[in-house]
Amino acid sequence: MAERRIHLLSEVTANQIAAGEVVERPASALKELIENSLDAGANQIDVRIRGGGKSSIEVIDNGCGMGKEDALLCLERHATSKIRTAEDLYAIGSYGFRGEALPSIASVSRFILQTRVSEEPIGHEVFVEGGRIRSVKEVGMPVGTRVEVRHLFFNTPARQKFLRSRETESAHIERVLLYFGLAHPEVGFSIQHDEGNVKRWLAGQTLEQRLRTIFGETWLQQVISVSKKNEVFELTGYIGRPGVSRPDRHEEILFVNRRVVENRAFHFGIMEGYQNALMKGQYPVAILNLTTHPSQYDVNIHPAKKEIRFRDELAVRRFVVEAIRDALSQFVSQTKGGSGVIEVGLAHDKSADFAIKGNQLGAANPTGAAHREHSVPLKLAVPIECFESKKEKTEGNILASEGWSQSPVIQHCGTSKEIEGMRILGVVARLYIVAENSRGLVLIDQHAAHERVLFEKLMSEYEKKAVNVQSLLFPITLQVTPLEQEFIRVQREGLHAVGLMIHEFGSGVFMVDGLPAVICAPATEAWVREVLHDLQNEGGETRRQRKLSEEVIVRVACRRAVKANDLLNEEACEKLLRDLLACNLPYCCPHGRPTMIQISLNELERKFGRAV
Ligand code: ADP
Ligand code: MG
Repeated sequence: MAERRIHLLSEVTANQIAAGEVVERPASALKELIENSLDAGANQIDVRIRGGGKSSIEVIDNGCGMGKEDALLCLERHATSKIRTAEDLYAIGSYGFRGEALPSIASVSRFILQTRVSEEPIGHEVFVEGGRIRSVKEVGMPVGTRVEVRHLFFNTPARQKFLRSRETESAHIERVLLYFGLAHPEVGFSIQHDEGNVKRWLAGQTLEQRLRTIFGETWLQQVISVSKKNEVFELTGYIGRPGVSRPDRHEEILFVNRRVVENRAFHFGIMEGYQNALMKGQYPVAILNLTTHPSQYDVNIHPAKKEIRFRDELAVRRFVVEAIRDALSQFVSQTKGGSGVIEVGLAHDKSADFAIKGNQLGAANPTGAAHREHSVPLKLAVPIECFESKKEKTEGNILASEGWSQSPVIQHCGTSKEIEGMRILGVVARLYIVAENSRGLVLIDQHAAHERVLFEKLMSEYEKKAVNVQSLLFPITLQVTPLEQEFIRVQREGLHAVGLMIHEFGSGVFMVDGLPAVICAPATEAWVREVLHDLQNEGGETRRQRKLSEEVIVRVACRRAVKANDLLNEEACEKLLRDLLACNLPYCCPHGRPTMIQISLNELERKFGRAV
């Protein structure tokens, strides 16, 4: 008879293996502990961290607590009070359900559980070392639970090696706390690292109050609220205003039923909802919670429950897209007259708790377009060009072809009429139109502004399937490479839909005999090549019809808009501003860069030392 090679793993070993999936580092243990506290109905959770969580992680809650039997049972694998059958998973309202976290953590640490229910005058303490119960005793304590995890991975040195510096681990811990703090503004949290200051977020806050506490007032001024509901989903929270974006995803925090999740449909729904109000290659600011019945998704596809899968991913995506669009357009319609312009130069908000930059802790030092204090070229390298001093001809200026007449220049700089609460003063560096409004100074990027105007015009023609095509008297012939040929063949219909009339002429030769009428400047072969080239370089991952058309329109608008150095007269400036303010999303160009920025009187006063 062959020797037996298969044997059952011991309970402790099995728990340690499970711990490998659930507990990666101190922050993941903290996550499990806070989830348990929240599941226990706590509204105050206090965290104490030593040595970045490597020495100890302590969580004290005022939840329901456990009696002696439960306190022992909860350390067994698959012991849970949260579900009874697998069916219950489809209606799960709690964070936990596997009954895995506590035994896993206790198997790789020195673990102290103290807990008391309200029915009993005294609590119980269980001490577990490397998964073995060492002692059980009575302990005087308030109702609730205190868990302390010491020396995580002390008995699994291979795993201990993977832990990083105290600072890095602390940063992960802060991130976990941030997630719960945002998901549960009604719950009070506190955290102390070693002997440092105690940071507190008070119980009973609204999300707005919590955001103000965490990120500060300046941050809050850059977001707008989202609120949309249908029979299946409800989406609430805050997203960045048009023109606000970040170079990474640290401020895109998504919850489903208050559980922080990673989910592609949710993320891409936001990106798509922003459309071109988000700078290319940048990420949104979004703190959003999607509420839906648990039967709509599966959380059980990831050991740490980070990822979820929706039953109908497309429905989620569509719903999110609509919610984001609604919020953005509502904001724009409420802020006519430039009151939605992104303000720059605000002094950094000292009240903010967090810098959400990577995993770095530290003073708030927000990044992103809206924060780039020094990006405003206030250095007058080029003198302000008052209209009265302008002598140059504006002939050949493409604005003229749009009916922007080249009227005589104004007599007195700064007497121009008011346009929706703004008055144009002049142009700086042949690029930035300078205006004032009741809040202070407004700078308008003439190129970005014109891009936005053209984009919306062409887009609306396209959406009405009424793109005006101008036939070319002399068609443009293009010799293309096999790669380009393939691209044009595949995309031909999309190109036609936006007025780029391109036809195959022979192998490798195409002919363009019509262009969108908005391009009234003479279109050359080079121009068509540029547009095609831009398009090909877009990368075609999710190139559906609409996407491509939109991209063509963005390209056309960009290549067609007035440039820096194009000299605009007063009337042209006024028309541009008026057209811009009439746009659906006036505050950013089709690439998502700001079209206007506001420098408030307050900020000017601060800069001139009149105020602090
Ligand atoms: P799960 O959360 O998946 O049920 P855990 O191992 O995290 O599994 O916890 C096991 C059980 O211990 C929970 O179901 C709960 O009944 C109990 N428990 C854990 N932490 C607490 C706490 N802070 N307060 C009250 N009960 C708790
Ligand atoms: Mg749990």
